[in-house]
Amino acid sequence: MNMQTRQSAAYQGTTEDKWKSRWKDAEVKNAELVVDPTQKLPGFDFPRALWTATNRIRTANGRCNHLLHKWGMSESPLCGCGDIQTTRHIVETCPLTKFDGGLRGIHEGGENAIEWLENLDIRL
Ligand SMILES: [Zn+2]
Repeated sequence: MNMQTRQSAAYQGTTEDKWKSRWKDAEVKNAELVVDPTQKLPGFDFPRALWTATNRIRTANGRCNHLLHKWGMSESPLCGCGDIQTTRHIVETCPLTKFDGGLRGIHEGGENAIEWLENLDIRL
């Protein structure tokens, strides 16, 4: 699809239609978590710190050592377990911090996810 066609397709319909169209065409990490971008996500009513941490995990942009190192704010990209500490690593694979429900479980925002976020000693 060329740019002209893409733009005209994106600008037709209601604002919600435009939003859905743009979401579908966007390249967003973990985009599969959001089926309909016009609907509030689980945790929308969380206290701000929890809501922020949840969204940083959803978008893989938490303040993990990998990103802090990339931005010159950490001496090492490594986690306490020795692997590269990405947001996904913290949530899904780290033997020190892993959440049993994984990324999907954090996204869904149940009681276990809230407890895990509150007890995590990494401020995402
Ligand atoms: Zn680790």
